[in-house]
Parts: sequence; structure tokens; C-alpha cells
Amino acid sequence: MKNDKDKKRKLTTASGKPYAEHENTQSVGPRGPLLLQDFILHEKMAHFNRERIPERVVHAKGTGVFGTFKVTHDISKYTKAKIFNKIGKETKLFLRFSTVGGEKGSADTERDPRGFAIKFYTEDGNWDLVGNNTPIFFIKDPKKFSDFIHTQKRDPRTNCKSPTMMWDFWSLNPESLHQVMFLMSDRGTPYSYRHLHGFGSHTFSMINAKNEKVWVKFHFKTQQGIKNFTNDEAVEMKGKDPDFAQRDMVEAIDRKEFPKWDMKIQVMTEEQAKKCPFNPFDLTKTWSQKEYPLIDVGTMELNQIPKNYFADVEQSAFAPAHVVDGIGYSPDKMLQGRLLSYPDAHRYRLGVNYEQLPVNKCPYMVSNYERDGSMVVNGNGDDNPNYYPNSFDDIYEDHAYKEPPMKLDSNVADWFDRNGEGENDHYSQPGIFYREVLNDYDKHNLVSNIVGAMSGITGPKKDLIINRQLCHFFRADVKLGMAIAKGLNVDVDKVMAELKHEKH
Ligand code: NDP
Repeated sequence: MKNDKDKKRKLTTASGKPYAEHENTQSVGPRGPLLLQDFILHEKMAHFNRERIPERVVHAKGTGVFGTFKVTHDISKYTKAKIFNKIGKETKLFLRFSTVGGEKGSADTERDPRGFAIKFYTEDGNWDLVGNNTPIFFIKDPKKFSDFIHTQKRDPRTNCKSPTMMWDFWSLNPESLHQVMFLMSDRGTPYSYRHLHGFGSHTFSMINAKNEKVWVKFHFKTQQGIKNFTNDEAVEMKGKDPDFAQRDMVEAIDRKEFPKWDMKIQVMTEEQAKKCPFNPFDLTKTWSQKEYPLIDVGTMELNQIPKNYFADVEQSAFAPAHVVDGIGYSPDKMLQGRLLSYPDAHRYRLGVNYEQLPVNKCPYMVSNYERDGSMVVNGNGDDNPNYYPNSFDDIYEDHAYKEPPMKLDSNVADWFDRNGEGENDHYSQPGIFYREVLNDYDKHNLVSNIVGAMSGITGPKKDLIINRQLCHFFRADVKLGMAIAKGLNVDVDKVMAELKHEKH
């Protein structure tokens, strides 16, 4: 780990005073009590006590890698974003993979979505695309996020993970069905971070040089091919090597096997969005690739493990709010909620100046009037003006970066989603997924994974929760419902009667 040059350096305190003695604290005689004046002892112990920063409340366990994005196709008719403005152009990036629900020390092979968060260091500022390995999510309104995550964490009394909490929540929130089915398929236990796809998941917008806007979804297709653990293999690996995915990535890059993904987009015009039979900004829905085909954009390669995990991976901070000129937001409610919550989480976890940390820092010009706060490391604007407008510097707002306005034709209200047309179909896409996407092997494993997971439901509400969730599976596909009911030894006639009753 150290080179010869390092060996020649003197050991010093953090303030630079060379140590004369490292192993023994100053004491009264060789066997006597220790002296309070041995400041080095305090410095070491006090620093050690403060080594941990708050763990990310979600996505705590992760793996980060630097890499490069290279444009292979021209998409300038959709976006003026400089990152895409020339075929062959390369942009440095940092990608953090993660699991979602577990703590920082949890196993990499847990059944969980995988975070897929990218920071592109573009010349127009850092662009963070903060997605998952699934194109969808469990909920479509951010108000439910903390409730949902609580169900993935620990029971307040037992401090154990609770299938009862999870399935209770899912069964009461039918929009989760699509993502639950992805999670319960073998793609819920990917073999490694190299063998999964990534998705921006939300709907974003792209704006071209003529200020025309389209809606887009981002896809990253792994060139390594999809590879998953079965449930049994994933459980076994938890015990063998909880850090399997981290190790796999470091070792692959050490072998110079640099993993690659192809970036593709789906595009929907504003007119198409208006006519779409479902809400195209609903994060529980995909856009059919038959209607909105994938368009090639470029290739991403990961090729450099950070030298220091804490410095770059633990301190990395991604926010979907960080878009660049030519890429914008959409009315996706989950995206809108995350615009606030991600930077807020970083201010809590890393401090208000988190964007000055090397991994988060924009390598290009940053000029603003934000000053002070804890841990300023960028010179704090030196002796330049700290207010705007002023008569002393030449910093200006560039109106060329203005986005086209978003037209709204609705009222402000608490909308109940069941009142909205096309808002309440939680079953068609999960049904298509089961019937048309999964092969027989995938279907078999999906059913056995669901049966295994639902078998963990316990307590006085067990039957209620199981039956309510079964109804959702039946609504997606009767054969799927039947197979799960059979696996759980549930009286199907009773569930069907309930289903019929609910329909009337
Ligand atoms: P398509 O047949 O055009 O696309 C199906 C998609 O499913 C492909 O992206 C395929 O990509 C992916 N896929 C294949 N096997 C699995 C699997 N076991 N788990 C998850 N994804 C898989 O159909 P549509 O676009 O009309 O979508 C049909 C259904 O496919 C949707 O209802 C949704 O459930 C699912 N899906 C759709 C996606 C989309 O963006 N449209 C993306 C992923 C899934 P690949 O084999 O490379 O993963």
C-alpha cells in the first residue's frame, strides 16, 4: 500500500508536529498513570470517536467507481446538453451502486432493488442521474416514501426485518405490484453490479437548441449480460461473502475487465403524452418499447476504483435536482419530491458545503454568492463580493439557459388518484410482465420467491394481508394468482369470492 517515499515521511499530528513516540502514552514512571498532557493520545481517540458520519437512510451499502461516458449517436435533435453534442465526446463520471433497505454493513446479495446513481462531470455543471436497476418504483407519490421505507427496515419492537410489515404495506398500496414483481423475480437478486441494467426510472425532459421539449426515459443496458442469483444462491452468498458485489467490482477492474453499459433513451412528445392512456409521469409504469423504441446514445465504461472508499464513495452525494442545460424535470411526482429531499439529505449527512468535496465538486467554473457554513474548503469566494447584484464583479445570469415554460391546465387541489382517469390501472403492466416477458423458468422462480417471502407473514392479520395481496396477483394474472395461492395453501374459492365482492 505504501511506497518507499511514504516510508521516509515523519509521523506527525494533524497539525504537523512530529511524533517522538507512538506506542507509549506519557506516564508517571514506566508503570504509572497516564498524563493528561499527552495531547496525541486525545487527538487519536477523539478523532476515532468521530469517524462515522450519518449513514444514508436508504442506499447505505454501496460500491463506487469512476468511468467515462462516450457519445456514439447524435441526439442533438432532442437535446442541446453539451455532454451529447459530438459523437466521440467523452465525459468523466462517477457511478455508485447500492442496495436500498439494508444498513451499511448489510449483505450485497439481499433481495432489493439496486441503486444506480451516476454523476456526469459535464462542462455545463454536474448532471446526476439517480436511478435504480428497475425502470419503476413501489410508489408514485413521495408522501408515502418514508412509510414505505419504514416497512423495509426494522420492526420497532423486535428490531428485526418484518415480512408482515412489507406485505401489509404492499397489499394496501396496489401501485407497488409492478415493482414487487420485478423484486420477487430473480432480477431482485442480481449476481453482481456488473450484470444489471440501469434506469433513470423517472420521466425527464430534453430541450433542444430550438427550445423544443420532449419527455425522456434513460436506460443503461449492461454489456456483461444479465446474470442473477437464485434465491437459494443469494441466501448462501450472504453468509459466504456479504461484500460479494463490492469485491466482484474491485477485482474485475483490477483485472482490467472494465464493465460497460449502452445508454439509450425513449422519447415521448408532449402531444403523445397528452394522449397516453396512462399517466406517463407515473413511476410505477413503463413506456412500451414497441411504441417508444430505444434510441442509441452512447457507451459508459467503468475503469477506476477510488483510491479511498470513504473519501469518494461514502462522501458522494447525488441529487436528481442536479440537471444540466438541455435536460430538465417532468411532473413525475416522485421526481418532484426527490428534488427537495436528496439535497436536504446531503446537507444533513455531509453539511451544507457537500458540493465542495472532491467527488461532488464540479471540475468547471462555479460562481455564486453562497458563503460560509461548516467546512468551507474552496476559499469561500476569497475577497470577492458576497452579494448579487453588485458593482464590482462581472458575474452575470445567462438567459440563454432559460427553459421553455411548462403549460398547466389544472387546479391546485389534493387529488385522489382514484378519481383521475387512467391513474388507477395497477394491473395491466404487471400482467403483461408475467405473461409476455417472463419465460417459464422466470415464472417458476417468481412464484417460489413470492411464496417464500409471503410465508414470513405472521400475526393476527396474517390471513387478511395474504388474501389482500393475493387479490392483486389475481388481478394481474389469474394463473399467477392460482400458483401463489397453491404455494401458500390458500383456499382459492374464498379469495375469488372476495375479488368478486370487491368488483361490485
Ligand atoms: P418489450 O417486449 O418491448 O420489452 C420488454 C422489456 O423487458 C425489455 O426491456 C427486456 O429487456 C425486459 N426484460 C426481459 N426479461 C425481463 C425480466 N425477467 N425482468 C425484467 N425485465 C425484463 O415490451 P414492453 O416495452 O411493451 O414492456 C412489457 C413489459 O416489460 C412491461 O409491462 C414491463 O413490465 C416490462 N419491462 C418494460 C421495460 C420498458 O422500459 N418498457 C423495461 C423492463 C421491463 P432486457 O431483456 O434487456 O432486460
